[in-house]
Amino acid sequence: MGIVEARGLSHRYGRRNALLDVDLEVPEGALYALLGPNGAGKTTLLQILMGIRRPTSGSVALFGKDASRLSVEERGAITYVAEGQPLPGWMTLRQLEAYLAPLYPRWDPSLAADLRSRFGLEPDQKIRTLSRGQRIKAAVLCALAPRPRLLLLDEPFTGMDVMVKDELVRGLLQSAGDEGCTIVISSHDIGELEALADWVGFLDGGRLTLSVPMDTLRERLKRVDVVTRSGAVAPAAFPAEWLSVERAGPRISFLLSGAERGGDAGNDLRRWFPEPARIEVREASLREIFVALARGNAETRTEEVAS
Ligand code: ATP
Repeated sequence: MGIVEARGLSHRYGRRNALLDVDLEVPEGALYALLGPNGAGKTTLLQILMGIRRPTSGSVALFGKDASRLSVEERGAITYVAEGQPLPGWMTLRQLEAYLAPLYPRWDPSLAADLRSRFGLEPDQKIRTLSRGQRIKAAVLCALAPRPRLLLLDEPFTGMDVMVKDELVRGLLQSAGDEGCTIVISSHDIGELEALADWVGFLDGGRLTLSVPMDTLRERLKRVDVVTRSGAVAPAAFPAEWLSVERAGPRISFLLSGAERGGDAGNDLRRWFPEPARIEVREASLREIFVALARGNAETRTEEVAS
């Protein structure tokens, strides 16, 4: 059973459908990357999971229990960081930590101190005087120090410098590994997600069109680069399993979906390219997969990948 189980979740803002019939299951201990283009519904979904927005219809269960019936303690085991999340500017970080600690039974002061020094945050600086990046770091500290069972992160990397992003990724991996913390993270920073995630969900126009373990996605999709011999004619119509096809002179590149079903992808490809100058088949990066899913007719593409 998933630590998060959403069924038939829909949300409307007035007439606008932000989420449509989303079924989401996040296994315990997963690091679940929620991907999707701008306006896909990621923030709306995370806000509903956090309980700060009510779905128009559908249900959410967290820790196997109806989300609206969680105890105070269970609520305290969920933390959330959103881009631009308001923090009390008149407090120092030390004061904020002292205020939050009694609210969370599992608050870990030594982890808070460790994160403060890792993030280079000054405990006695007023929060309103922090830079944007420092403010995000402070919010992340306040979300990790309670040692949550479920951590929801909405675009946490925005405004962080490369070193701190790296620290954050390591910190999240450590939390997920050591404490059995489940993390759902939305970000456009695909490079960072690639290093983190073991599950991937793809939201598009409010629909969760794909939700699979990262390993499965990697098995299903391969990146193919072909260089044809001069004079060879590439097929006019490409098979449905070829996604994101790009042609430039003698080169053709695409993502091959269903690669695990095809067995020997190389042999299969030789039917299309009997005498290529070069064929290279390799693991697709998460960025390449995201672009293939997001481009054009995303629904058929995700169906192709999901099946
Ligand atoms: P982004 O990647 O740009 O942050 P997102 O995937 O997080 O986008 P949401 O912020 O959940 O997407 O928005 C989903 C849809 O709902 C969009 O069409 C957006 O315009 C709309 N929307 C979001 N918040 C509101 C609101 N408060 N009132 C009206 N419409 C909204």
